[in-house]
Amino acid sequence: SKTIILKQRPDGKPKTSDFEIIKEGLPSIETGEILLKAKYVSVDPYLRGRMRNEKSYIEPFKINEPIASTVVAEVVESKNDKFSDGDFLTGMLDWKEYQVHTGENLRKINGDNISLSAYLGVLGLTGLTAYFGLKKIGEPKEGETLLVSGAAGAVGSIVGQIGKIKGLRVIGIAGSDEKVTLLKEQLGFDAAINYNTTDDMAAAIKKHAPDGIDVYFDNVGSYTLDAAMENINRFGRVINCGAISLYNETDRPTGPRLETTLVKKSVKMQGFIVRNFEKDFPEGIQQLSTWLKEGKLKHEETIVEGFETIPQAFINLFDGKNKGKMLVKIY
Ligand code: NDP
Repeated sequence: SKTIILKQRPDGKPKTSDFEIIKEGLPSIETGEILLKAKYVSVDPYLRGRMRNEKSYIEPFKINEPIASTVVAEVVESKNDKFSDGDFLTGMLDWKEYQVHTGENLRKINGDNISLSAYLGVLGLTGLTAYFGLKKIGEPKEGETLLVSGAAGAVGSIVGQIGKIKGLRVIGIAGSDEKVTLLKEQLGFDAAINYNTTDDMAAAIKKHAPDGIDVYFDNVGSYTLDAAMENINRFGRVINCGAISLYNETDRPTGPRLETTLVKKSVKMQGFIVRNFEKDFPEGIQQLSTWLKEGKLKHEETIVEGFETIPQAFINLFDGKNKGKMLVKIY
């Protein structure tokens, strides 16, 4: 069985040499335990934060210890009455092919025609982040204009589609022409901007939203946030979901240059972590799965294969190699 450990803390953009794959024998289980085999592993931008030795809302990873993220795993052996062979579970698990667990804090999932991978994307923390960030902080109203950055990514692609379901005009920002086409032609966005070929982002936003932005769902931070703020409307809402453009910075970047925008325009700007809404998760999952079954929500995925590709798949997030949720499938 293979395990991926953090060999050293990345300096700037992570490299595969920051990780190490170690091989161990197959673990054995005792009474009350289950043996899990990983099936799908989620790679997420926030894991970069846990690779720094910094205090945050979640403990940093330790050197020479396994990385963990949300995983879908199959029970391959059980000495715990609550679980049987062939059950599928999801939750926070180590980057290990096989691991021993008690099952505590893991959720049983069943296929019910929705693929297992969806539980790491639209029906997992990704979908919940999009749903609650937009709903609770964005307070979207029909007829308003929503701008989303990181729009072709896991969270962003769902945010934009929920915006359309709620009757907003939706504009996305993403890193390639291919993604712009995906947003407009497959995911129903009204307009999309390729930030890599746009010199003046504030002007580009204005062109697509001449009446301004009412809600900005920010996944990238920095200059894009600046440009969005130049277009924000009175009583606008800004959702600080993430700031991926800054995660590999080694210096402490300056904050957005908001000047007096927040005051002059009575703008609300709020950050969050999805766990803040944990008590409402069942409602979120219910709504997201209904939309999924009704065909109102498409879940884009980029699935790469093989346990050993996990570190590279994670690194590829910072090069925008994914469309929708980036996952690793394990055989
Ligand atoms: P994504 O699927 O969006 O993957 C990351 C994407 O970010 C890439 O595909 C890439 O797309 C884009 N990107 C990478 N580098 C840059 C850059 N320098 N500038 C602009 N865009 C860049 O990941 P997630 O959907 O999982 O996460 C999206 C954001 O949401 C992240 O900031 C993450 O930290 C945050 N998040 C926050 C949560 C919370 O609880 N607050 C929970 C989950 C996620 P492109 O080709 O467009 O550049």
